[in-house]
Amino acid sequence: MKFIVPALCILLLAAPALEAQSTDPVLDPRIEALVAEVDAERLLAIVEHLESFGTRHTMSTTDHPEWGIGAAREWMLEEMGSYSDRLQVSFDAYDVEPQGRIQVRTDLRNVKAILPGRSDRRIYVSGHYDSVVYGDYDSTAVPQPPTDGPWDGYAPGANDDASGTAIAMELARVFAQSGLEFDATLVFIGFAGEEQGLVGARLHAERMVDEEVEITAVFNNDMIGNSMGGTGIQDARTVRIFAPGPEDSPARQLARYIHRVGSLYMPGHEIRLIAREDRFGRGGDHTPFNQNGFAAVRFTESRENFERQHTILDTSDGVDPEYLQKNARVNVAGVASLALAPAAPRATPQMLRRGDGYDAQLNWEASEGAVGYRVVWRNTWNPDWEHSLYVGDVTQFTLEDMSIDDFVYGVAAVGPDGHESLVTPYVR
Ligand SMILES: [Zn+2]
Repeated sequence: MKFIVPALCILLLAAPALEAQSTDPVLDPRIEALVAEVDAERLLAIVEHLESFGTRHTMSTTDHPEWGIGAAREWMLEEMGSYSDRLQVSFDAYDVEPQGRIQVRTDLRNVKAILPGRSDRRIYVSGHYDSVVYGDYDSTAVPQPPTDGPWDGYAPGANDDASGTAIAMELARVFAQSGLEFDATLVFIGFAGEEQGLVGARLHAERMVDEEVEITAVFNNDMIGNSMGGTGIQDARTVRIFAPGPEDSPARQLARYIHRVGSLYMPGHEIRLIAREDRFGRGGDHTPFNQNGFAAVRFTESRENFERQHTILDTSDGVDPEYLQKNARVNVAGVASLALAPAAPRATPQMLRRGDGYDAQLNWEASEGAVGYRVVWRNTWNPDWEHSLYVGDVTQFTLEDMSIDDFVYGVAAVGPDGHESLVTPYVR
């Protein structure tokens, strides 16, 4: 026994100051306050208001003051503009020629609110505000369109996807009213044309590539408020995040990040990572972002009800506001942590080398605002990072006697408050 005490003392004395930031992230009271500010009643009110426009079909009327996508988008613009002077609210408009499921020339408008940060790199929170109903239905049992356009029929789209749009809008309010300044610029956006083949999101992602805008992450929310599955199983304590591969794609890094941080701030809510682009045969607005090289994931409820999807039954009584609030809060935790952190380190052309033959030597480019870096690694057969080491304010580090072949390595930038960037992995 007498040897243990001195050994422990040596260990404690030898523990470098680095240790303080070497383990899991700590709770930041500012983020806790943002998480708590998300309001279930407000979320539901947004869903109900969007539902009240009767339809938000992308090709529905834009002339009527209370019915159709035109009235809906005007309301979204006005509503988000009322949250804070800090929000820059505008339409992101496209003159779309007939193509695919867009049968007529369409004035397609995404609705966006930008909260400028210290840097121009962007983090998105999105949903699609357009709706659709397929097939015939008893037209007398539902609200009747005051107009006679071919796409003006009732399409409430409460869960698909007023629920995701409500998250984007409520987070615009919460982040803008917080008074906090973020490193990243935040974009809260409702896309149109999703139901016609992800048209609004694709046009926007391509525009961002043309304008050379850097997008750090896209948190896309689509069908995110239904907790009663068509199977009769109710589940309001888990949520799915879909992220396409390969295993070290930008989307997978983002998914791992949200799992880590979201679980910290919402310990009672299980985040289920799904290693897939999307559900089979379905699509979502995260995909055009991934296709253009950005990190984008899809948040979706765990239990779907197919009876309510793309039908007149997709009404707000099928949206569980408490569940929607929890899922919005996971978004908040991930967005806030990422937005307070510095940008991810850029990989060098030879980021990983065989140090002295049998060592793993990592190097990377410094990130502005970083006070240090965290090296992470995992067994090649493991889906998530297993080990990490805070290495301080350096741009290279050697892990002695570590095979570069048997592990996957990466590095994240750490800011002064301990918030971390996404991991930049070494991928050949
Ligand atoms: Zn949808």
